[in-house]
Amino acid sequence: MYEENGARETGAASDNAVWLATEVQKEPWTVKLYLINLGYCDVDKGRVLTPGSGVGERIIIPIVGYLIETESGSRILVDSGMHRKHIAQPDATFGGTEFGNYLTPIMKPEHDIRRRLGELGLTAEDIDILVSTHFHFDHAGNHGDFGRSRIVTQRAAYVYAKENPGRFPADCWDLPHLRYELIEGDLEIVPGVTLLSTPGHVPGHMSVLVRLPKTGAIILAIDAIYTLENLATDNWTGYHDPEEAQRSAHRLKALAEREGALLITGHDPGQWAGLRLAPDYYD
Ligand SMILES: [Zn+2]
Repeated sequence: MYEENGARETGAASDNAVWLATEVQKEPWTVKLYLINLGYCDVDKGRVLTPGSGVGERIIIPIVGYLIETESGSRILVDSGMHRKHIAQPDATFGGTEFGNYLTPIMKPEHDIRRRLGELGLTAEDIDILVSTHFHFDHAGNHGDFGRSRIVTQRAAYVYAKENPGRFPADCWDLPHLRYELIEGDLEIVPGVTLLSTPGHVPGHMSVLVRLPKTGAIILAIDAIYTLENLATDNWTGYHDPEEAQRSAHRLKALAEREGALLITGHDPGQWAGLRLAPDYYD
């Protein structure tokens, strides 16, 4: 399979979608969802998350990846966290920039995605599909580890990141050995795991709906909803396209209500403190 598809996939999204869906049709259900802590960032709340509220107030937000296991043993990783260079050099990405005044990575060796997978008895080679929700530094930092995985992302996110390599550090994800499969819109990649198009934070941003046998539905909002406060105050002014972001967030909220789903936001320290974290899992 790897040899056949070694070249970067940039074909029609519909082809990819069909291929993805048929490839894995035998798999009956997802069985486990791990929430993986990949470090933290010390941020100016009002500058980074909630414009107009908490400007100058520093808070520590979690950086997160997610691992989904299916009954047949397939593994899907959602995002790869900050690049491990931030362990030794927190200002590696934003040093000397204005944004660097508002955000400082906090990353220890145990926050490295390879270490975290190792704690679960896994290596990067065990990941069948990497879902890249978007290409910001805290979500796509270690994509380079996943040269054996199929990497699924929205075409719009990929194109936008390609056009803005400074804002989406290209040395972390735009690498010749990586195979991207570009999709457009929603896609159920395996039964029980649906990628949701939730643009607004950036073009082509994705969230993920996971249906688990015991817990039921969980929605990983990722950066479509940074924190529960953004949802409660309907504040999307810090987003690339606030109106589109609002539509995406409202869509997730409605979906969560309809499904009775646990809605997990992307960077909320308060919500994070109450969740079950790896090596524990939701099933
Ligand atoms: Zn983020």
